[in-house]
Amino acid sequence: MTLQNLTILGSTGSIGVSTLDVIRRHPTRYRVIALCAHSQVDRLFDQCIEFQPLYAVVRDAELAAQLAARLASVACVTQVEHGPEALVRMAALPEVDSVMAAIVGAAGLQPTLAATVAGKKLLLANKEVLVMAGPVFMRAVRESGAVLLPIDSEHNAIFQSLPSDYSGDMLRSGVERLLLTASGGPFRHTPLAELESVTPEQACAHPKWSMGRKISVDSATMMNKGLEVIEAHWLFNVAADKIQVVIHPQSVIHSLVQYVDGSVIAELGNPDMRTPIAHALAYPERITAGVAPLDLFAVASLDFERPDFDRFPCLALAYRALHEGGSMPASLNAANEVAVQAFLDEKISFTAIPRVIELVMNQSPATPLESLDNVLAADRAARRMAELAVEALASA
Ligand code: NAD
Ligand code: MG
Repeated sequence: MTLQNLTILGSTGSIGVSTLDVIRRHPTRYRVIALCAHSQVDRLFDQCIEFQPLYAVVRDAELAAQLAARLASVACVTQVEHGPEALVRMAALPEVDSVMAAIVGAAGLQPTLAATVAGKKLLLANKEVLVMAGPVFMRAVRESGAVLLPIDSEHNAIFQSLPSDYSGDMLRSGVERLLLTASGGPFRHTPLAELESVTPEQACAHPKWSMGRKISVDSATMMNKGLEVIEAHWLFNVAADKIQVVIHPQSVIHSLVQYVDGSVIAELGNPDMRTPIAHALAYPERITAGVAPLDLFAVASLDFERPDFDRFPCLALAYRALHEGGSMPASLNAANEVAVQAFLDEKISFTAIPRVIELVMNQSPATPLESLDNVLAADRAARRMAELAVEALASA
């Protein structure tokens, strides 16, 4: 067993905190080299005291000075840096073996790509990166030989259910299709007429998973599952019509692979992100994660439903983006980020989220996506359009 040196991008978020909880249980296996956060300085301070990283990164110079002074007062030697370039540097440090990519949204694109180009073992939670930049990102993985391990519970389950030598050739491996499970979120049965007036608090109260606010809203609109369909397409090289979404409210089956001979292989467990995190950290070994064993007698029954595309228009928009290809998923992702933030800020209603995204998609023809510049241009243009759409809706 060799010591693994880690950078954690997004250490103060829900995934970051769960990652550190797993690491805390295995001090002889993992050493934290860099902890990267944004503005939650108090939490980052506590993490620095406990894990003694060589580096910590925050949003700007002012927060960096604040944190550095506090760390100096307790004789903690962590060096504090700031800004997007520091994130990129931390992701590619030569002494780092593995990078946990757990920043939320497009802000994670460049550091995650930097870790990939540097050939790190990449633990990918930041699904927006694959949605925005799928072809560019997967090319970087192939060229650098980076090891890509999915943290998203569904994709981690699929990874575990595919043959260990799976090379992206579904037919050769006898895979018929992927079944992506979804809890259905908090509004699975809410009368459609009431969706217009649901609040951010209601949208963030997920029945099964405790997560950051952006992904919680994405789960409520089911855009999260839409993003995951696109993520699965890139990770496993499977066409959209071979990826089926299945509503499974208990969230015990984390996803399934159906084979041509009729076999279906799945990964099951309690809904706790520490399982996929521990799986990816230790892969191909297994370590404890602090997760309670699954009690099938307590679960008692497993239910399944077809997704309702009228209730969840975001899911249909994501399939459309994948079909149209090129820059369209990047436009979808950017418009979604702007619309979700506007909903969280109470500028637009819950049901306006898909309206903003559709408007942006209708105005953004898909163009080829060959470079990081193409990705950033599509992201910027869609963001601007989405902001205008939000302003128009907010003042209507
Ligand atoms: P979160 O909001 O709890 O945490 C986000 C983290 O990103 C924080 O540490 C924050 O400091 C950092 N961050 C935000 N903006 C930043 C910026 N501009 N620059 C640098 N850092 C920034 O989110 P989360 O729930 O932990 O989700 C993180 C990612 O993992 C998302 O892409 C999400 O889709 C994915 N994911 C999360 C879960 C989950 O259970 N929480 C499950 C699957 C996938
Ligand atoms: Mg997921």
